[in-house]
Amino acid sequence: MVSKSLDQNRPHRKLSTHPSNWIRPLASGLAVLDVHGEPIFHIDATRIADTVIVTHGHADHARPGHKHVIASAETLAIMKARYGANFAERVTALRWHETMRIGDVDIHLVPAGHVLGSAQIVLDYEGARVVVSGDYKRKSDPTCAPFEPVPCDVFITEATFALPVFSHPEPLLEINRILVSLKQFPERAHVIGAYSLGKAQRVIALLRQAGYQEPIYIHGALQKLCQLYQDHGIDLGILAPATTGEKGKPQQALAGQIVIAPPSALADRWSRRLPDPLIIMASGWMQVKQRAKQSGVEMPLILSDHADWNDLLATIDEVNPQEVWITHGREDALMRALSLKNMTAKALHLIGYEDDAE
Ligand SMILES: [Zn+2]
Repeated sequence: MVSKSLDQNRPHRKLSTHPSNWIRPLASGLAVLDVHGEPIFHIDATRIADTVIVTHGHADHARPGHKHVIASAETLAIMKARYGANFAERVTALRWHETMRIGDVDIHLVPAGHVLGSAQIVLDYEGARVVVSGDYKRKSDPTCAPFEPVPCDVFITEATFALPVFSHPEPLLEINRILVSLKQFPERAHVIGAYSLGKAQRVIALLRQAGYQEPIYIHGALQKLCQLYQDHGIDLGILAPATTGEKGKPQQALAGQIVIAPPSALADRWSRRLPDPLIIMASGWMQVKQRAKQSGVEMPLILSDHADWNDLLATIDEVNPQEVWITHGREDALMRALSLKNMTAKALHLIGYEDDAE
């Protein structure tokens, strides 16, 4: 059940200026417009733009080359690690709840619970409140601040897993399956495919939460971001480089150990040099059996950094908006479910966001 502690019974206000007059999807991404219809700033611009608020560090949301980037300090650090110090001409770091005015719009950031530093953007203009939630989830994640529901007039949401069939299990139950398997197959290297920003660190932190104390071996491509998380106070325990042995020879020291690698490394020669590798993949998409099968995954782990169907609906109930705008994903089922609640919903059809980068 959704908590009723928020001002859910707040009567819906009559808006003097409807938000669709000042925030719109353009070819360059979601933009806040001035009275002449010119963009004042973008959110997660998909093309190079002047002023951009970035919700989080995933590549389809955080692009290099903008003039001025406004984001959480963590997101700015992630962009710097990925793109180098010159990823923007100017940057502004905002603390959670710190207000900044751009044009006549007040903005502030609250946590989205998606990856380290991930933010929802709260926009207040002429008495109307719009929340751009970016990518978000509600399940536990020891590596980032939890999603904070903010009641609003317009809630702009993703719909990556917006079908009733998508139901994500408790993360620790999924993680425990790895520990059970390690006992059953102590001679096999357990190789977990996980995206380099967010998923890899979450898998490691959940393994630690489940009581796994051994060193965890990481592929070189994950090193920089794991270090960045640790520099921001996220305890990942002892990490060691997963160096595969000489050409053709398996690295015997990794038998019975946990190795984390980007999904692209699972299928290539790199993982075949590990001793009798047991291929695991951690992703919300692992609920789709066909996807697991196609990619040769022996143990699919359903571990998503996006809200599942029930969490999307519960979140919308909690923030209780007059309208829901859907950025990308499977909008049809969500629109139908919302119309049954007498809520106005529309699809923005934003292009440039990817399903898979989770
Ligand atoms: Zn994302």
